[in-house]
Amino acid sequence: MNLAMLAEMAAGACPDRVALVTAGEAVTYAELFERSRGVASLLERHDARHVALLDENSAAVPALVYGSALAGRAFVPLNYRLDDARLRSALAGIAPVLVVGRSEALGRVAGIPGVTPVLREEVERAAPAAPSTGAAPDDIAALLFTSGTSGAPKAAVLRHRHLVSYVISTVEFMAAGEDEAILVSVPPYHIAGISSMLTSVYAGRRMVQLPAFGAEEWVALARDEAVTHAMVVPTMLGRVLDVLERDGERLPALRHLSYGGGRMPAQVVERALALLPHVGFVNAYGLTETSSTIAVLGPEEHRLGRKLGSVGRPLPSVEVEIRDRAGAALPPGEPGEIWVRGEQVSGEYLSHRAVAADGWFPTRDGGRLDEDGFLYVDGRADDVIVRGGENLSPGEIEEVLAAHPAVADAAVVGVPDQEWGECPVALVVFAPGRSADGEELRSWVRARLRSSKTPVRVHVRDELPYNETGKLLRRVLREELVRGERVRV
Ligand code: ATP
Repeated sequence: MNLAMLAEMAAGACPDRVALVTAGEAVTYAELFERSRGVASLLERHDARHVALLDENSAAVPALVYGSALAGRAFVPLNYRLDDARLRSALAGIAPVLVVGRSEALGRVAGIPGVTPVLREEVERAAPAAPSTGAAPDDIAALLFTSGTSGAPKAAVLRHRHLVSYVISTVEFMAAGEDEAILVSVPPYHIAGISSMLTSVYAGRRMVQLPAFGAEEWVALARDEAVTHAMVVPTMLGRVLDVLERDGERLPALRHLSYGGGRMPAQVVERALALLPHVGFVNAYGLTETSSTIAVLGPEEHRLGRKLGSVGRPLPSVEVEIRDRAGAALPPGEPGEIWVRGEQVSGEYLSHRAVAADGWFPTRDGGRLDEDGFLYVDGRADDVIVRGGENLSPGEIEEVLAAHPAVADAAVVGVPDQEWGECPVALVVFAPGRSADGEELRSWVRARLRSSKTPVRVHVRDELPYNETGKLLRRVLREELVRGERVRV
């Protein structure tokens, strides 16, 4: 099975249903598959095995994904915000490559050896020729560069079998009602953008594309297209809530909003629940290397306010273990590294394989499982603070700090310490009009957690550094602290 077969099945089951609404244009399932066949014919006229996209969301995205699958090429969505040096280095690693984009973007890649530029309009107009044979399940469907939170971006290899099993195990074929519409606003180079698109087509939904995220545009499109489903990363949700509050808009058609891609501040979830009580919220945890979601905290828990702060239980098709540094499984409650195994898990990069022979993949995320099997993500395993041989999870301390009424957001990082090796230091953002002194916040933590988990210092910040997909950049904070740049409270 390859990805194109999923689109072909959808086109066969409901050819006249609208698959995609983009820039005011509606594309049916039959048309979407026909366009994909056109793209396959275009790709087959070139030898390049890689087809990169340097552009925002558009009708070309699904056509390129399925067209690449039909032509046995690998789709490589690139971050159009990459600087020229990083873009060149990404392209050098996958040349020879076709690069699809609009003329400005193609200007950036002109003259790079091994790069053949293709205008997006050419892709949109391509007519199908002979039927293509299609990729094999083990062929590479997509190469996705991880966001580079913990170092240089790595190209994760996702094969057809990984993405197909993700799609099949998470949604039911053509189960969507005619009214179901999903708003896709996450960029195509992020795994959540690709996985939302793939599941929308398999489920038979109407996919409403926002070329690039803007909170006002998001709200307007969700309202005008009566969107029922959406997926956002943490920073997006905060901004959407600001617009909803300001405009008194409540999006009555919205039924399901999933968020993930980074830690969601508890206060944003509380605001969302209060403002949109008719919406079922889902916290989805996943990685590029696992074809997206591997664990979810569902609407029921959100409604009951149960286990908020956790990313829920692993999907039925996925196994999760917490392991120590030597790779031994740890009991419930103990923090360690999150390991995962399942059909959707690749764990393979262009340069190397990080997945073990038995299929287990170390995520490099620190985390813990509680007695009920709920998973908590505590930041990068590298962020785990080792204080005198004891492992402390920054996420656990951050949750406690963020629950203080004066605190809007909190980060905890380990800094070098003569006596203990490393000690936790907190950085907090105060809620509007509120403040607290460092000693009060330290006592607040001491009253709730073991004393070794009490931050030795508390610093205040106007905001915490997140990357564009909502990842807390603890590395940046650690470097600032080591350079002594922060004001203490
Ligand atoms: P790099 O590996 O280059 O540092 P990255 O890990 O940031 O990049 P992604 O694959 O985009 O690249 O992000 C996956 C990471 O995002 C996870 O490993 C986890 O740390 C974080 N994450 C994803 N979903 C959630 C969630 N629901 N809650 C908390 N963290 C999440």
